[in-house]
Amino acid sequence: MSLTYLSLGSNLGDRLGNLKSAVAKLREKVSIVSMSSVWETAPIGCPEGSAPFLNAVVSCECSSSVRELLAFTQSVEAELGRPNEHEKNSPRTCDIDILTFGDEAVNEPDLAVPHPRMKERLFVLAPLRELQKDAFPFGKEYASLIDTQEVRLFAPPFVLQQA
Ligand code: ADP
Ligand code: MG
Repeated sequence: MSLTYLSLGSNLGDRLGNLKSAVAKLREKVSIVSMSSVWETAPIGCPEGSAPFLNAVVSCECSSSVRELLAFTQSVEAELGRPNEHEKNSPRTCDIDILTFGDEAVNEPDLAVPHPRMKERLFVLAPLRELQKDAFPFGKEYASLIDTQEVRLFAPPFVLQQA
């Protein structure tokens, strides 16, 4: 069993509904341990006029390999209406990124874990920090981003923490 952290994002359609559907579908294969608040974040590197995102991070226990998990998260993205072929950073109903997977390190063209850009994204670090509390390892990176990237609390977690 591996503890994995997943980043969820949506900036198209019913954004909160999309995150809820994503979590419901993820539960078919992983066991959700904890969920951050939902944060609303300004789009970064997206086409002019893109809508703001809702973002959250969930931690999960996963019994499959990280490759199987990637195939599964991509199938969840597709079920939620994200086309397989899409322009980089185009608006999306649902984006699921694997941030970490136990202590595994993978560096391949279609899978990089830990996610190489997580430390540059306040929309990942703000929710991750809520979950990891004192164990959050990116304090410096977080501090350097808070003045430059816009994030705000939008809604409380919709998954109850496991006891
Ligand atoms: P982004 O998440 O950066 O906005 P996409 O969701 O379009 O971009 O992902 C593009 C590709 O990133 C996917 O086809 C996937 O194979 C690859 N990828 C590499 N590492 C990861 C990871 N850790 N989690 C999810 N996707 C990843
Ligand atoms: Mg992605």
